[in-house]
Amino acid sequence: MLNTCIFCEIISGRVSSDKVFDDDMLYAFRDVNPQSPVHIVIVPKKHISTLGEVCESDEVVLGHIQVIASKIAKEFLSLKNGFRVVSNCGYDGGQTVYHVHYHLLGGRVFKWPPG
Ligand code: AMP
Repeated sequence: MLNTCIFCEIISGRVSSDKVFDDDMLYAFRDVNPQSPVHIVIVPKKHISTLGEVCESDEVVLGHIQVIASKIAKEFLSLKNGFRVVSNCGYDGGQTVYHVHYHLLGGRVFKWPPG
């Protein structure tokens, strides 16, 4: 069986998604199983499996994701009271889709530490 990546399929348009933002480096869409009133997934267009696999050449796109997460939260979603950005890495980190991504969560108050 061919090993396809669901996020690569979404980025290519072969699988539909509720797009929030798109540029040459990244793609952002609403999570299909939201954990808060606002739950956006932000992914680099380059396939990287986990944060544990990144290299120095990924610095630009990973930094760009932080800036765009802030822009989406403030300008597009009006999350004026704050928000949370999380990236789960590997089995212990709770990662289920092995294409690096950041969850942008908002619309409620989050607890710390996470479960
Ligand atoms: P993680 O568990 O940190 O790897 O996050 C993967 C996230 O991707 C989960 O929150 C899923 O709900 C979400 N997800 C998986 N497939 C889709 C999809 N087709 N469209 C939108 N979100 C998805």
